[in-house]
Amino acid sequence: MNLKSRNIELGESERLCSLCSRAEESTSHMFFECGVTDCVWKTCYNWIDLATVLPANPSNHFQQMPISISSKKISDRWKVLWSAVVYNVWMMRNNIRFNGRRLQIQKCIQDIKNDTWRWLSLNKQFTYSYTQWQADPGDCIMDGGSHG
Ligand SMILES: [Zn+2]
Repeated sequence: MNLKSRNIELGESERLCSLCSRAEESTSHMFFECGVTDCVWKTCYNWIDLATVLPANPSNHFQQMPISISSKKISDRWKVLWSAVVYNVWMMRNNIRFNGRRLQIQKCIQDIKNDTWRWLSLNKQFTYSYTQWQADPGDCIMDGGSHG
């Protein structure tokens, strides 16, 4: 990110997406269209080997999440991950915009991974250890069923 040009064009950059600076910042852009967020989503989809084209409409996005997932238990786990993505993208955006942090996609993805595990662990049915989760989050979400 070029800090110098950001400073010069402060007025305009105020309206630009904090993550990519390439489009006007809006909820649908930031969470679903932004190239940075897209990279985060694709990483998470890759955890369970889902190759998919992300729809631009947020509600479609949410409905598409449990694609090819029939079990309610597994789709509930997906929703937890989905929430962790949205939450952490929002936190990353605020840290960049208000705290002058750099864009750190890998850190964001790691935070998503940690939060998802913490939130999933609130459910007694979720018995995977942190080490198992770190090694293969997709396998934990799919309950060992996807990578057979
Ligand atoms: Zn963007």
